[in-house]
Amino acid sequence: MNLMELKDKRVLVVGLGKSGVASALFLKARGAQVTVSDTKSGDELRNEIPSLLDHGITVETGGHGERTFRGQDLIVVSPGVPVDAPMLVQARSLGEAVIGEIELAAQFLPGPIVAITGSNGKTTTTTLTGEIMAAGGLPTLVGGNIGTPAISLAERAKPESVIVLEVSSFQLETIEAFRPKVAVVLNVTPDHLDRHRTFEAYVDAKARIFENQRGEDFAVLNEDDPTCVTMAGRTQARVFWFSRQKEVKQGAWVRDGNVLFRDGEGQREIMQVSEVPLKGAHNLENVLAAVCAGALMGCEPENIRQAVREFKAVEHRLEYVATIRGVDYYNDSKATNVDATIKALESFPANIHLILGGKDKGSDYTVLNELLRQRVKRVYTIGAAAGKIESQIVSAKDGGVEVVHAETLENALRKANAVAEAGDVVLLAPACASFDQFKNYEQRGQVFKEIVGGLE
Ligand code: ADP
Repeated sequence: MNLMELKDKRVLVVGLGKSGVASALFLKARGAQVTVSDTKSGDELRNEIPSLLDHGITVETGGHGERTFRGQDLIVVSPGVPVDAPMLVQARSLGEAVIGEIELAAQFLPGPIVAITGSNGKTTTTTLTGEIMAAGGLPTLVGGNIGTPAISLAERAKPESVIVLEVSSFQLETIEAFRPKVAVVLNVTPDHLDRHRTFEAYVDAKARIFENQRGEDFAVLNEDDPTCVTMAGRTQARVFWFSRQKEVKQGAWVRDGNVLFRDGEGQREIMQVSEVPLKGAHNLENVLAAVCAGALMGCEPENIRQAVREFKAVEHRLEYVATIRGVDYYNDSKATNVDATIKALESFPANIHLILGGKDKGSDYTVLNELLRQRVKRVYTIGAAAGKIESQIVSAKDGGVEVVHAETLENALRKANAVAEAGDVVLLAPACASFDQFKNYEQRGQVFKEIVGGLE
């Protein structure tokens, strides 16, 4: 269906998260007959419902009625809803268009899109890229999977606006014509296998970011990530690389402590690595990706340098919290998968007290063993995944690391605080989702910071 002609069309929005609510209001404002449906109860959605009803939107809660899906011209699904849910499969078989909010937004975003995906580092890189573009004098809007839903940017976007979007693999599963001018894939490591089922399916979802790109567009890929390297063949766009380790043909890399960018017009020095304010090698990768995207959009080296120098870690991403009796506390609550935990561990040479656990996502924790042995003094397990983690980690008596079953975050922090010595690091990088004990990773990080605030 032609999305430009929404007037009087029957549209169903499935899932009432931030992007679902924004989509419903957007569609209604364009004259569509909008129904929203969510499995959550009316009580759970009490904050969202009134404004929808006020706008004349039909609201269904506590489940999806089968009839709700019939006779719709368009169905807009939230990223939380699996694309192979039976009612969606059926709707498609009846010829109804099923798209996600990113696809809807893209149709109404006139300016160039810089889209950023990857297993880890999306939010950090998206935020930094937005700041680089703004420093470069480009009218910039930032959103997507972070902060403002893309569809809400559509209201504000002007033809010259550069739209910097964080996109998740779930969002990419429901695109059709979404076509970024610059598509960045930071890294691809196993995550969300509970939903994508296989690693190949997950890579395929990520690679859809290139699906509609053409020769005048750009793909920015991590040359240090083997899966990214294999993805280069899947885009029509011009490929630019970033690398911490090697010299690249085109793109951003490091030589003698300098960040350089190179394209067909030659090579430019952007800044020194020592000026990057973020901790950890993984953050240097994020910086290189953002530098590359900025340079491709025409930002000057001096402006890029200034934006990177002034950038602060995004909350809950390897965020420094406090030093207590010489012990540093870091909140990396956003480390919700094993790879992010590995990167966090690699950011500190030794003497780490690591808090691990939460809701398991089908992960393999054995890959942590080497780093645990080298750098970690003690592991404290919390939450529902504690048992699985303890069964996969090599314990001290077998030449591995000391493991303390702590149950809760508070307990873990008290135990760590009791034994940690000056020079040690207490790190929350749990490798798990938070939903067993917390509302989300933000609340987990908040609780961490509050408890640390009360430690002596
Ligand atoms: P995302 O939005 O992809 O989840 P974030 O920027 O929020 O990414 O960071 C998520 C977690 O991954 C944090 O724990 C952070 O320290 C870690 N991380 C950030 N960048 C990278 C990277 N390039 N590679 C691996 N881990 C990273």
